[in-house]
Amino acid sequence: MKVYVDRIPEEGLLLEGEESGEIVDMGEGHEKFSENILVRLHVYKVSGKLIVTGSLSTHALLSCGRCLEVFSYLIDNKKFTYDCDIEGRDIIDLTEPVREDIIIGLPVRPLCREGCRGLCNRCGQNLNVKKCKCDFRTPFSAGPFDVLDDLLEKKNLKIKNQISKLRKKSKNLDK
Ligand SMILES: [Zn+2]
Ligand SMILES: [Zn+2]
Repeated sequence: MKVYVDRIPEEGLLLEGEESGEIVDMGEGHEKFSENILVRLHVYKVSGKLIVTGSLSTHALLSCGRCLEVFSYLIDNKKFTYDCDIEGRDIIDLTEPVREDIIIGLPVRPLCREGCRGLCNRCGQNLNVKKCKCDFRTPFSAGPFDVLDDLLEKKNLKIKNQISKLRKKSKNLDK
């Protein structure tokens, strides 16, 4: 969305429109924005600056952090703000600030619903769909996820050992 600086009147300008969802597409394996971004912005010129306030909304397809199901997540920011210097510019492109705002608004660990039950860590069953037959009362012998856990733990231990070795070394050097 582009703003022509000399077309902004004293009282400001209302910009309404849609930005293609593609501007926030981050490529394969990332969030998908199949829908357009609805943009409603007030644009003003105040003492050499462009001031923008307004709202952005769209839906992103996110993968749930617990059950991995893809779901539609509503992004609705009614407090979008942006400003920049006008000096020497005829056209100011708001695509990048809009893009950044949408990306910053994405949850770090998205959940498909409150209280999502996630996947069974033994058999991988999506527990929102149905219960699995795993018996949680008896201790569990290694399944695929536990093997991964073990590997990770061993790796962390290795790194910890390396760090403490390095610490000792640097202490010796200090002497
Ligand atoms: Zn979920
Ligand atoms: Zn299970």
